[in-house]
Amino acid sequence: MLIVLILAIIILLIGRIFSLDKRFIIGAHAVLFGVVILINLILPTNNMLRQTVGGSVKNWIGLFVITLIIFTYVVIVKKIKNSHINSQNQHKNTKTFKPEELNRYARHIVLREIGGVGQKKLKMARILVVGAGGLGSPVLQYLASCGVGTVGVIDNDLVDSSNLQRQVIHSDVNIGKPKVFSASEAMKAQNPFVEVLPYNRLLNQEVAADLFEDFDLILDGSDNAETRYLVNRTCVALKKPLISGAITQWEGQIAVFDSRKLGPCYQCIFPVAAAAGLAPSCSEAGVVGALPGVIGSIMVVEAIKLITGAGESLNTRLLIYDALFAETRVIKIKRDPSCPVCSKKTG
Ligand SMILES: [Zn+2]
Repeated sequence: MLIVLILAIIILLIGRIFSLDKRFIIGAHAVLFGVVILINLILPTNNMLRQTVGGSVKNWIGLFVITLIIFTYVVIVKKIKNSHINSQNQHKNTKTFKPEELNRYARHIVLREIGGVGQKKLKMARILVVGAGGLGSPVLQYLASCGVGTVGVIDNDLVDSSNLQRQVIHSDVNIGKPKVFSASEAMKAQNPFVEVLPYNRLLNQEVAADLFEDFDLILDGSDNAETRYLVNRTCVALKKPLISGAITQWEGQIAVFDSRKLGPCYQCIFPVAAAAGLAPSCSEAGVVGALPGVIGSIMVVEAIKLITGAGESLNTRLLIYDALFAETRVIKIKRDPSCPVCSKKTG
């Protein structure tokens, strides 16, 4: 029996030394095993050769079964190990940059306050944008261009020709198309490394919490008070930071409400919605074309700062931009102790 085992080891060693195909080595072992079985079956019991190779078929069948069990076990363990390594690599791949991405984000990476670490944080970030209109347009464009890994956008409007004077993410060919799909198309065309999640629906109480839960940061560029209050309530409840922008005619404002820190929420500053006549929409009052570009761009700058930890956030401050007189003011804002939204939450 020993001579057969030595022969099997020699075949294995030859295979290793000459880097022979695994199938060839297994085949050679099968031939050796077959010959041994035949010798034990055909030759008489007292035959010298039969005695040399074991003398009984039973021993070889027993050895074959044991080898088969060990072989199967090794193969299964190897497969489990490989699938684990693959899943780890897939996870790692989402965190590492491809060479094209490094070149794309080179001007960010050289900035001391962002660098490779900050760019990676942007890549891993998940940001939801409420509204794909005036403010949503520049916000979505810049979030995509600067490499925010996952950008969600919710809006139930269709692109209209009257939008195109300021909503620069949408193009003439997309008139009549849902804004979220038109925006998503433009974002992917600008940066294919970004994942866009378009939600072509109205944001309401039923879906807000579940949707927001999935994101790290919310950017509100909606055009009505009802949505703004809902966005604020949901952000405070889930402790999600909120960057809120608003525009009308020649004026825009922007604030960061970070409910993870001490500071006011949107409702502390705007406790009640302005009466309908006092807060006309852009369609009624008009808005200068490039204004959403100014405010939306500042919103994204604040988002980049919040994600990367660069600089000083606008949190607890409200920035007001008066385009007609080219004036900018920043006013300090405080929490309202009687605010029905945030006062109870933070004591
Ligand atoms: Zn509040």
